[in-house]
This record gives sequence, structure tokens and C-alpha cells, in this order.
Amino acid sequence: MEEDVLERWRERDIFKQSIERRRGGPRWGFYEGPPTANGAPGSHHVLARVFKDIFPRYRTMCGYEVERKGGWDCHGLPVELAVERELGMKQKADIERYGIDRFNARCREVVLSHIDDWTRLTDRIGFWVDTEHAYRTLDPSYIESVWWALKTIYEKDLLFERLKVVPYCPRCGTALSSHELGQPGVYQDVIDPSAYVILPSARGKLVVWTTTPWTLVSNAAVAVDPELSYVRTADDFIVAEALAEKLFGAEVQVAETFLGSDLVGLSYEPPFDFIPASEYGEKGHTVLAADFVTAEDGTGLVHTAIAFGEDDFRLGEANDLAPINPVLPDGTYDKRIAAYAGLGVKEADPKIVEDLRSRGKLLKSEPYEHSYPHCWRCNTPLLYYAKPSWYIATSQIKDRLLAANETINWQPPHVKHGRFGNWLEGNVDWALSRERYWGTPLPVWRCPAGHLHVIGSLAELEAASGVALDDPHRPFVDDVTFECQVDGCDELMTRVPDVIDVWFDSGSMPFASYGAPQSGLVEFEAHFPADYICEALDQTRGWFYSMLAVSTLLFDQSSYRNVVCLGLLLDESGQKMSKSKGNIIEPWDVLNTYGADAFRWYFFTSKYPWDGYRFSMEALGEAVRQFMLQLWNTYGFYVLYANANEISAQALGLHEVELTDLDRWALSRLDATIATVRANLDALDATAAGRAIAEYVDELSNWYVRRSRRRFWDGDPAASATLHHALTTVAKLLAPFTPFIADEIYENLDGSEASVHLCDFPNSNPPALRDVELEESMAVARETVRLGLSARSQAKLKLRQPLHAAVVVAAGAEREAIERLADVVRDELNVRELRFVSEADELGEVEIKPNYRTLGPRFGKQMPMVAAAVAGLDPARAAATVRAGDKVKIDVGGNEHALGADDLLVSMKPLAGYQVEREGSHAVALELEIDESLRAEGWAREIVHAIQAARRDADFDISDRIALTLDGAPELLSAAREHQEYIAGETLAIEFDYAPLPGVAPVRIDDLDLRIEVRRV
Ligand SMILES: [Zn+2]
Ligand SMILES: [Zn+2]
Repeated sequence: MEEDVLERWRERDIFKQSIERRRGGPRWGFYEGPPTANGAPGSHHVLARVFKDIFPRYRTMCGYEVERKGGWDCHGLPVELAVERELGMKQKADIERYGIDRFNARCREVVLSHIDDWTRLTDRIGFWVDTEHAYRTLDPSYIESVWWALKTIYEKDLLFERLKVVPYCPRCGTALSSHELGQPGVYQDVIDPSAYVILPSARGKLVVWTTTPWTLVSNAAVAVDPELSYVRTADDFIVAEALAEKLFGAEVQVAETFLGSDLVGLSYEPPFDFIPASEYGEKGHTVLAADFVTAEDGTGLVHTAIAFGEDDFRLGEANDLAPINPVLPDGTYDKRIAAYAGLGVKEADPKIVEDLRSRGKLLKSEPYEHSYPHCWRCNTPLLYYAKPSWYIATSQIKDRLLAANETINWQPPHVKHGRFGNWLEGNVDWALSRERYWGTPLPVWRCPAGHLHVIGSLAELEAASGVALDDPHRPFVDDVTFECQVDGCDELMTRVPDVIDVWFDSGSMPFASYGAPQSGLVEFEAHFPADYICEALDQTRGWFYSMLAVSTLLFDQSSYRNVVCLGLLLDESGQKMSKSKGNIIEPWDVLNTYGADAFRWYFFTSKYPWDGYRFSMEALGEAVRQFMLQLWNTYGFYVLYANANEISAQALGLHEVELTDLDRWALSRLDATIATVRANLDALDATAAGRAIAEYVDELSNWYVRRSRRRFWDGDPAASATLHHALTTVAKLLAPFTPFIADEIYENLDGSEASVHLCDFPNSNPPALRDVELEESMAVARETVRLGLSARSQAKLKLRQPLHAAVVVAAGAEREAIERLADVVRDELNVRELRFVSEADELGEVEIKPNYRTLGPRFGKQMPMVAAAVAGLDPARAAATVRAGDKVKIDVGGNEHALGADDLLVSMKPLAGYQVEREGSHAVALELEIDESLRAEGWAREIVHAIQAARRDADFDISDRIALTLDGAPELLSAAREHQEYIAGETLAIEFDYAPLPGVAPVRIDDLDLRIEVRRV
């Protein structure tokens, strides 16, 4: 069915029409966060894409013009890594040998290799997005826009180069930004060797502790807290006082206690002499005062290697120590570290520890488990490493970022000041540059004198250099040089060879997707900012952040007004889905088994999307059974009876028929549902909206249709008009959720538009259709029926057996409500009469007994007299008295005693001959006695049931008229004669005969035989 609907959409060009039709309406903007198409899409992509679809569809039906431009994120390390793997490359030098042009050409192919897979899936799940005019971050016009942004930021004095300690991946050969450190899986628990190292000095042996022994080769200083107490032990070790016992045991002997400030300026013997103290500066290999030293772990003396830690680097700056870095970009030591030159630093860890031990410089070494960051792409442990990088000074606009965040509506709301707000509060400068190949080139040119020129467009570059570039990527842009334009400087400017963080690309999409400002400025301005974006929750540090940062840097406002965050897709036992665990559910398996609507419906309604999902084929199948099948069956029922009664596609209008209470109830509930759905979709809550529709479809199916079968059978135009209106309206309500089934139902029941997606979203009808009082009455009546049916099943009485009466506990408005709908209640419960009582007590007889546990100890041998006295009380009055908190008086051997609530056991004996069902203040009792006449009527219904089965077995059409012959137990035949007219009417029997049917196998009714013969006439 869904494939046919897709075909119809294509034929009639519905997506385009749906937008065209709303041209000129108010705009409602949506931005597609660009996925990377270098792999096939998974089920979690379906989750994001259906949430990107539902609200734009809804807004379109509400009259908004909602443009939906698709996009593709094309640059970055993931693509480079895939190509490196493919070409068997191990390091950056391999790429340069291979040729950057060939390498990048391959990256371009690979990143676009799965676009067809993506487009096919996008189409199949009904995500309406314009992939034909999708933006691509690799297009020259896109890159130009990004250049413009960077130039603008540079002109605001917020783009700069700085030597800084950065998390650095030696394999990828590039630094990572702080939001890349926020990617899942970056921090992993690992065990590293930790070392307590002895550094002899004139004052005693300083003991420092480190978890990165590889940094000891460039130890430059030791840091202490000048305010902290230190000790020198009898063995001449110097450590923080608070840590001495932990390090040397309770019996440690202290020779001397002093403040850290006493140690400042002390020279010591370094752990290695690869680099002499003088190279660091005047204070090389001395003790320095610092503000980051604690006595929580280690020794209270901190080994400092200027190039390998943020604190170390700051301390070096404050004390004029040179940031000497003996580690090459590939993560190996350079020539200065002679013994270890060429060795990867992590591999060197154990060797360095052994070296220290052999020279008596190691106090001890122990394995240390800690959470350590790894490269999110290649899983190599990161190094903290000082290197020059380009930054955007986002920390300078922190207040503006926080202010912009205040204007955003977050779903769920707690993200705003929680996860996202906290992230903004801790803002650090954006590490922008990457020493890589496949990315937007950093548009910064520099001359040997250090003058900078930031280029903002290809035209500007051409004007400066005379070179017109078709492709602004590396290596072509690397070759473009021009003369420095600073007065008096005629040096040649060459490009800083870095590319930029891909997150800056995707954060620039509001303007870069139109090529603005070089082109498409009008379109950009018309669509900025977006009303709605939606991505996974972990994008708080990714796209949500880069979108906010870029637009705040350039326009001082957020680029989006509303954002919906999506949780994780876990397997059914709550495990993350991964290839290695083999628990991945492929989207095409789901689509081929259940279809796109089921997939969508599951995501929209099974959970709040930000809570995440425990996803399995079974869970999805359940969603199908519970809702889709019920809807489809109700629709199927209408079609069946409409065909049988030759009702044309357009049923009568509601104003042309005489509506019953039940019809008006169904329409009133529909109206209430429309209001609920609209309110929730307006608030971006698809879950509550979808569940309201499901509840209505359940009411329609399990109450309205079930209660109205007879009327449909009879071709009642009011019932038909009501169900027709309800189903077409439900189709419109469902259109944004399950666009396929909605369109199919609409097409068959109405079809006045080319698609349901061109219709207006239903509005609450004129107030005349809403009848709150009727809805409340029906709710009470349905509750009464529920209790009555429960009493029936307790008494094990078949529903087809009529009973004399049901007694209902109800007073006031509830009683009026049930009386108003008495026919419905009687019919549902299959009783001839409804009676009312106002107190539940009237449905039974109160019994009271003495409580031996309390009265026994009190009366002892007199207990029999107490029991006799209790038996003499009026049970109902005594129970009411103690329930009210008063005492009941009894006479025991001439003395009066008072009994309280604890002394009497009160119970309720059901009224003889009734089955009672209670819940809260509601109760219903069924009169159980079945006399001859009820018995006969019950049998008549059983006979009808058996004849219907025979009709079905004979494959008769529901409208076929039959000739009926019955044979069997005399009791049954007599009941049939008594109710012959009823039976004939129900089974469309126009001939009715009683005759022996010797060859027919009997059916059993209450252990009696009945033989049935049906013939079509
Ligand atoms: Zn890496
Ligand atoms: Zn210059």
C-alpha cells in the first residue's frame, strides 16, 4: 500500500504542491542539520528524519509556507579516515606522498557515495525534504560563505593564532576542539603506569607523582602550594604533610615541617638530563609556587612539563619558562631525547619507569586507573600538547551566547539551563584549525613579516592574486600567493595550510546553504532564524552549539527558535546498538516488515523521544497491533458497509442527517481530540498528540462502531455520515504522523483534494458539535458498563444470556447521566431493566462479628455473653456508628460496655441472587436469576450466533438472503419458534423451516444439539 501511495505522490507531485499551495502564507522555517553521507543510514537516522518531517508537515497543513532544504555534511576526518583505510595509509606523510589532490578527489567520491542510499531511505520513510536542491558543504559557494564568516569574525578581532596546550591525536596529526572531546566514547577507563619519582635537592629528596611518565623527559619545574604544609621525613623525602602517612605508612617519622613557600626557588636534580635547565630559562629545574596544587592525591609536589598540560603551560608563561616540546607531530620523541628518539610516547611509558628504577630515582610505580580521552574517530589516546592553533574567541562572547540561549525553546526544557546552559557557562575558545586536507581551507594568508590577510570570497582572492579558483580546496588554494598589501612590506603572502573544524561548516548552514552573502542573500534573510531544528541530544556540544556560536558571532542572535532533542536508540535490553554486538536493527528490515507508518508511529508515540528507546522488532510490532490495525479495521468496516449499502464516496453531510446521542458523542469527542492534537503539535509534543489520536480511534472502534453495528447494517445515514466524517478527520489529523495510511484513507473516503497533505489541518468545529455534558455522561455510562461486564464475567455468564436487571449505585448527576443513556447501558449489559440505588451498602447485607483479638483479653470467660450481645445488634446501624467514630453500647451481665471500631469486624455479604462489582464509589450488581423466558431469549441469541457462523462457513456475502432450516433439541427449537422474527431479521432468513437434518453435524448450545442448514436464495 505504501509503495502505491509513494507512486501517487510522485505522479501528482504532492510534496511540491503542498509547498506551492501555501506560498505567501506566514513562513515557518526549518533547517536540516546535514548528515554525513559516507555510510549507509541506520535506524537512528530514521528517528531524526521522521521528527524533522512531522512538524513541517503539520505547519504546512496549518497554512504556513515551510521550505525544507536538504543538506549534506561533506568534509572532515571521518571521510579522510575512510579513505586512508581504503588506501592502506598509516600516517599523514603517506597522504602527502600520494598527493593531496588525488587524496581529496577520493574523499569527494567517498563522501557522496551513499547519497543514493540516503535519498532512497528518505523517500521511503516519507521524509519530505528537498534533496534535489540540497546544499553541500563542499560546494565552492558554501566554502565562500564560510570564508566570509571567518573574515567577519577576524574583523571583529575574534580570530587569532595562539600557542596552546590542546588535546592532540598523534595518529590523525591534528588537534581536537573541546566539543569534539564531548563526543560519546571519547573518555574511556584505562590503566596507565603511575610513578613516584625522586628528585634530589639541597633540602632533601622531592617526591613528585605523575600518571604520564613519558612527560618526565621534559620536566622543567616542580610546583608546590605555597600555603600548604610539607614535611621532610627521617628518610629525607619531602612530601605534603597530609599525604605522608598515605605514602610511607602510619609509622612515618617526621624530621621537619614547613610551608610550601619555603621550597620555592629550590633547585633540584631533574629525572633526566636530555634537556638542560638553561634551555627552559632562568627558573628551569626549580620549585615554583602554583595555584593548582592539591593534597588530594599524589605527593603535593607536581611534576611540570610546560608543553604537556594546560596548568603546566600557564605556570611556564607566568615564570618565563620556554614551552620546549620534544615530541614530534606523529607522537614520537625527537632527536633531543636521544635514548628514546623515534619511539611513540605511550610505548615509552614502561621503559621510562624502568630507567628511573635502575637509577634509584623511583620511589614506587603502580598501575593507575583513570578516565582518559581518546580520539573520537580513530580511538588513539590523545596527548595534551602545546602547539600553535587558530582559535575563535568564543569565551569573549559567552554572555551573548547565554543571552541567545534564553530565546530558544528547548524540548525537553531542562536541556536549556542543564546540559546546554552548563556547556555555555564553561565556554572555552573554539579551536578552529585542523592540520588536515579534506576540509574548508582556513582563508588566512601570511607574509614572513607576520602580516595577515583574511580572504572573504573567491572574487576577493582573485582580485588579490589574479587567480580564479574553480575549486577552493587544497591543494589548489595552497598554491595561491600574492604580495603583502601592508604599506612598506613587499613580501609574498602564502596561505596558512590548515583546514577548519567541520562543525564550523555545519554551523554556518543558515547562510552558507544559500551561498550568502555572495549570493542568495534574500533567501537567507527570509528564512533566518529557523523556527525548528531537531537532532540527537548529544548535539548540544555539536551542531546545536556550532549553530548558536556561529550565528551569535555574526548576527548576535540564535539561528533557531525551537529545538527538539532526541534520545538514544538502544536494543531491547538497554544496550547500545553496535556492529560488534550484532544487535543493530537495519531500517530496511523494519520498512520491509512493517512499513514506514509503523516505524514513524512507534517513534512518535511509544516514548517521549528525548527519553530514548528500547528498540526491537517486537516493540514495533506491538505498536502496529495496538493502533494501526485498529485504525485499519475500523476503516475497513466502514468501507465494507458503505459498499454493502451502496453509499457513494461522498456520504451525506452531518447537517443532512438526524444525529443520535451516540453520533453526537463521537463528534464531540472528535472535536476535543482535534483541540488536544493541535495544542500539542503547536508545542512540539508529537507524543501527547499521537496518543490523543490513538485514544480517539480506540473509542471510535471499541465504542462507537461496536455500539452502532446494527445501524450500519440497516444503512442508517446518520451513522454512516458520522463515521465518514470521523475517519476523514482522523486521516487529516494523522497526516503528519503516518502520511501513507492517512492518504490512503482520505483518498478512498473523500479524495476531493489530490492528497490529504494538501488539506487544511482540522480545526475545532463550530461549538455546536462539542457537548461536554454528553461526553461526561458517556464516560459514566461506559464505566457502568465496564463494571457490569466485569460482574458478568465473575459470575461466568455469557454475554448472550439476557438478565432481568442491573442495579447501579449512582445519585445526582451520575444517575441522570446513566438514565440519559439507559438504552446503551441496558443493551451493553444485556439486561432488561436498570435500577438505581444511591449507596453501595444497599447492594448487600452488612454483617458484624465480635473481634476476639481485642475483646477476648478484655472479657475473658464472659466472651460468649459478648458474642450474644453483638449478635443482638442491628448490624447496619452498629457498623454505621463505629464507622462514624462513635461507640456501640452492649449489656454484659448487667453492666454496660462500649465497643469501638476495633472491636467489631464489619463485612458485606452480597445480596442473595446478585453478583456485585465495585470500584471506588461505583458499583453495579447483576440479578442472576434466569427464568424460562430469559433462557429462551439467550438461546435465541446463541442460535443467531450459530447461524452467522454457518453463513460465514458457506462464504455468503453479508447481504445475501437465505433459506434457513433448523433441527435439534426441542428446547432450542421452541426458543427459536418463540423468537423466530428476531432470528430471521438478524440472519437475513426470508424462509424459515423446521425439519430433520440427519446428515448435518450438530453444534452444541448449553449441551443441547442444534443442526443448521442455510441456502442462498
Ligand atoms: Zn585520531
Ligand atoms: Zn607583510
